[in-house]
Amino acid sequence: MLTESERERYARHLVLPEVGEEGQQKLKAGSVLIVGAGGLGSPSSMYLAAAGVGRIGLADFDKVDVTNLHRQILYGTSDVGKPKLSVARDRLHDLNPEIAIETHETTITSENALAIFRGYDVIVDGTDNFPTRYLVNDACVITGKPNVYGSIFRFDGQASVFDAREGPCYRCLYPEPPPPNLVPSCAEGGVLGVLPGVIGTIQATETIKLITGVGEPLIGRLLLFDALRMEFRRLKLKKDPNCAVCGDNPSITQLIGYEGFCNPAEVGEVTPAQLGTMPETLLIDVREPYEFKQGHIKDAWLIPLGQLERHMDAIPRDRDVVLYCRTGQRSGRALEMLRGAGFRRAKHLKGGYLAWVREQRPDAAAR
Ligand SMILES: [Zn+2]
Repeated sequence: MLTESERERYARHLVLPEVGEEGQQKLKAGSVLIVGAGGLGSPSSMYLAAAGVGRIGLADFDKVDVTNLHRQILYGTSDVGKPKLSVARDRLHDLNPEIAIETHETTITSENALAIFRGYDVIVDGTDNFPTRYLVNDACVITGKPNVYGSIFRFDGQASVFDAREGPCYRCLYPEPPPPNLVPSCAEGGVLGVLPGVIGTIQATETIKLITGVGEPLIGRLLLFDALRMEFRRLKLKKDPNCAVCGDNPSITQLIGYEGFCNPAEVGEVTPAQLGTMPETLLIDVREPYEFKQGHIKDAWLIPLGQLERHMDAIPRDRDVVLYCRTGQRSGRALEMLRGAGFRRAKHLKGGYLAWVREQRPDAAAR
């Protein structure tokens, strides 16, 4: 049942015969997980909150950066440096206090994806990288959830609904990720600020249609948007019977290592933000003792690079190990040594201790 205040709030939905009280109740009972509170997650979460989707989950671990503001409309200039999810939760609650906002301040990984996804009816893919996109796809196929897909680059966008129960999945369309050196990110290639507004709003529209059962969802169709020509095209997609995850004889029946799948050469890197989500990891500082004394990451072991070979036997092989130095140079060499000695779970910290300090105190970052 809708309350009086909900009837008032959703009055323009209620007069639509296709939505009406019944559709609005479905929205109220519905739940959506939005993976990534960035360019796509901003408009999709705002429209879904405004529309009265009863429970909205957001997954992200980033902080607001000033370069986000030209497209990530959830955030304002005064939010720079704050965790995205706390800002997003306040903004969405202000937009609609009738609904529940759940925050998952973490990287979505092969370890946590299935448990998180199972708690929602629809998953919205607002990610900006291939490893997470394949992870979201596979987790949706395995949990039987519709994946409302969107992606953006420069002036072009794509959207679809991948629901392996009724149609193709993302892997049916793209069985293999492109070689990493051929795909510049939005950070490198740029993106028109309004583009995620167009695509994220399409994702919100598709989500509302899925929850209410109104209209025809974009299942089995890929929508292509060209902002320069102002053209929409639609391609028909077919389910691939040989698809590795949703085909007749799937080879992927549980989640895999997606960094290695998409980017085998760089799998050894961990960002400072990712490090914050890896509590069981053994940290090894490969700098010199005087550098260690001036400051180090809590609980790190000190093994200077020059002594690493001699102390290798002390390093456990059955634990995740992250090496770090000042900027990532020495730890990169240390990683080669450990990998060469068969430490398969060893990684190193991208940008080193300096990047980690910046992550802890963004206001102290030198710009
Ligand atoms: Zn498939």
